[in-house]
Amino acid sequence: YDDRDGKIWMNGKLVDWRDAKVHVLTHALHYASSVFEGERCYNGTIFKSVQHSERLRNSANLLDFDVPYSVEELEKAKYDVLTANGWTDAYVRAIAWRGAGEDMGVASRNNPVQVAVAAWEWGNYYGDAKMKGAKLDIAKWRRPDPATIPCEAKAAGLYMICTMSKHAAEDKGCSDAMMFDYRGYVAEATGANIFFVKNGEVHTPKPDCFLNGITRQTVIGMLKERGITVTERHIMPEELESFEQCWLTGTAAEVTPVGQIGDYKFEVGALTRDISESYEKLVRS
Ligand code: PMP
Repeated sequence: YDDRDGKIWMNGKLVDWRDAKVHVLTHALHYASSVFEGERCYNGTIFKSVQHSERLRNSANLLDFDVPYSVEELEKAKYDVLTANGWTDAYVRAIAWRGAGEDMGVASRNNPVQVAVAAWEWGNYYGDAKMKGAKLDIAKWRRPDPATIPCEAKAAGLYMICTMSKHAAEDKGCSDAMMFDYRGYVAEATGANIFFVKNGEVHTPKPDCFLNGITRQTVIGMLKERGITVTERHIMPEELESFEQCWLTGTAAEVTPVGQIGDYKFEVGALTRDISESYEKLVRS
């Protein structure tokens, strides 16, 4: 993926895709001092773009550094990348990290913060599963206690256990893994939030130790507009059996129906289809 034509925005300017490189002594590579965003552009407009730029800056602050570009500058960078590559429909990845410099230890006050924005064409995150209902494994790793890590940040360090969980799931023929939290409550998938339907009402884990996704908030708004009761609460693993429908939400995942989690089965029901299709319309409108 690194050896291809195209442009990536790096520290204020567009560079050739092949030249968008970092040094091996980059602080973030050693100590996970990196935050990022995942965004999607539809018909030339990035959905909730400003909110993503604000979250990137906020994630950096939670890791004790500043993104040296304003929201306006980040907005321009994202659209410059899309224009330079000629894309109107693409996934956009903005990333900020502590770079290489005189600090090689844990502390990194003197290393410059680096920022890049890349974009690429990325179809359905879950491929065919998007229509049929994804099959999820139950992850061995749990979302950590908020006292352990700044869980509101979209930070690289929080994804170590996600990659491990997703690989274990794929090895079992699943698309993704559902993770419990440190207390044993249902939390989320490795890169998407989760929703359940029971008796016409929607239940979703309270985001008190994982990312309160922008898609999640959008979908809650859509449900409320329909007059559907949405309860954000702690969900016990035993309750999985009682839910009729399930879906995942995320910028990459969009609204993906879930057909199975471990041994628990769900139908791709009318509400799931409605929300999935309405989300597609919303992001393109
Ligand atoms: N949880 C995790 C761990 C994620 O990586 C993502 C994707 N950013 C989400 C939830 C969903 O967030 P959003 O809807 O803002 O993309």
